[in-house]
Amino acid sequence: MNAVRKVTETLDPAVVSDNPIDLLTYQRDCSVSPPGHAQAMVRPRDKDDVAAVLREATRQQVPVYVRGGGTMYAGGVNPHQGGLVLDLTGMNRILDIDLARGVVLIEPGVRFGALTQMLKPHGQTIGIIPVTGPTATIGGAASAHALGTGSARFQSFADEVVGLEVVLPSGQVIRTGSAAGPKAEYFHRFGMGPDLTGLFLGGDATFGVITAIALWLHPLPKFRDTQCYGFASAAAAANFIGAVQARELTRLVWYGSGYEAGTIKSRVLGAVPDTAPESLPQFCVGLDFGGDEPMVRHDQQLIATLCADTGGRLYPLFNESYFRHLRNEEIYWYGYAGYFSRSRCAILMSSLATPSMPAFLTAVAQLRTEYPQFLWGAAVVLCRRGLHGGIMAFYDEAREWEAAQDATQAATALLVKAGCTPYKTGKLWAEQLAGFTQYHEVLQSLKQLFDPQAILSPGNLGLGHNANLEKKSDVL
Ligand SMILES: Cc1cc2nc3c(=O)[nH]c(=O)nc-3n(C[C@H](O)[C@H](O)[C@H](O)COP(=O)(O)OP(=O)(O)OC[C@H]3O[C@@H](n4cnc5c(N)ncnc54)[C@H](O)[C@@H]3O)c2cc1C
Repeated sequence: MNAVRKVTETLDPAVVSDNPIDLLTYQRDCSVSPPGHAQAMVRPRDKDDVAAVLREATRQQVPVYVRGGGTMYAGGVNPHQGGLVLDLTGMNRILDIDLARGVVLIEPGVRFGALTQMLKPHGQTIGIIPVTGPTATIGGAASAHALGTGSARFQSFADEVVGLEVVLPSGQVIRTGSAAGPKAEYFHRFGMGPDLTGLFLGGDATFGVITAIALWLHPLPKFRDTQCYGFASAAAAANFIGAVQARELTRLVWYGSGYEAGTIKSRVLGAVPDTAPESLPQFCVGLDFGGDEPMVRHDQQLIATLCADTGGRLYPLFNESYFRHLRNEEIYWYGYAGYFSRSRCAILMSSLATPSMPAFLTAVAQLRTEYPQFLWGAAVVLCRRGLHGGIMAFYDEAREWEAAQDATQAATALLVKAGCTPYKTGKLWAEQLAGFTQYHEVLQSLKQLFDPQAILSPGNLGLGHNANLEKKSDVL
């Protein structure tokens, strides 16, 4: 009997499939990272199923790749070394909405759309929601450091996690934060020794499989409004963003992003063709406010003053022609870009300090020069402090996949040189991460400790390469 079958034979056959048609779904995510080919898929119903798979996979040295919605753009779910895919979307129960503690406890396969709908009647929401909210899972977002709505106000998904339940490669189940205490449950992330929760956030399933997540709840804002600000240069816009962040005027900003000249031109001239091109700003910042109306209006006035002080002006045309629609209609971004119908879009995300924004955009300009065959786009997403910088290259999947991979790898190197750090690491950033020698050596030691057979998501974060396992997967 082959090794994969030994892992799955102890499970209820209803949660296992080795049907080649089913397996097509599990080859890849939305990235340029090459697809992989798993021998079987398991859709666990609870943590005991997960523990049974990991325990036996460790014994049999079978690679296990973990998948939520499969919407990531870093190849984390792609089963490069074959083996099994663990599809967490079957674990999709909302376990507890505890308004007294201000915490919601969910299984990892819950989609953001379902969770936010469930919380609405309680007047509550969660802190961070990615643009892919209708399809992305909470487990995938936790493991891939989600950003988006809420980042300007709360920073990152990790900041919103109270604690986790995790199954380790040995099959051992742990609960982190206050829930490690036998009676306490989830209400406190820090306090008892070091923060073990953080090891699994952004971990791309290299150290364990998250089987429950506790998140902070927040009151839904009663009033929302968007505003845009235009600047003559990216440097002036960076000064403005830095001033807003330093004064903590992001406290009522749920989403904020910055757009370069090409985006402004295409959106504004597309919507209002008779606009004079020379009147367009070189950089726009859009902010989506939410809270009590008088407080929002108060902060908007302060922000408008900071905008003028840094040489900018309110720019309602970009708000009308693009930003307001982006924020009001969940699927607008996909529909507008048409990414998945005609071509694909290689996305690369990094983190950067706000003053590094001009250097980030210089790196994008260099990519445009060096890889003119692709249409490149760039945007920054505001955090409470610092930024996330997204780069997109539109390519034809049938003809340009390999070239797009090369260009994306070149982009990772350029971004590191520009002072950015990997974000949404998966496999895309593995090479760069492995170059951060001392940091990566510690990660490798932890990997060895948690997953000595390197069965869990080998290749992610540049960890767990196991030559034996590679040889074995050829004959699985
Ligand atoms: C067009 C587009 C727009 C996007 N916009 C955003 C955005 O605004 N903000 C943002 O943050 N991201 C964005 N993304 C990326 C992606 O949608 C998010 O990161 C999302 O949160 C991933 O969730 P998922 O369920 O699809 O994860 P998956 O792709 O299934 O998995 C992501 C990673 O997490 C691991 N993983 C999944 N579940 C678990 C688990 N239970 N335990 C341990 N590890 C696990 C996987 O192995 C993988 O490494 C975008 C992607 C696309 C294609």
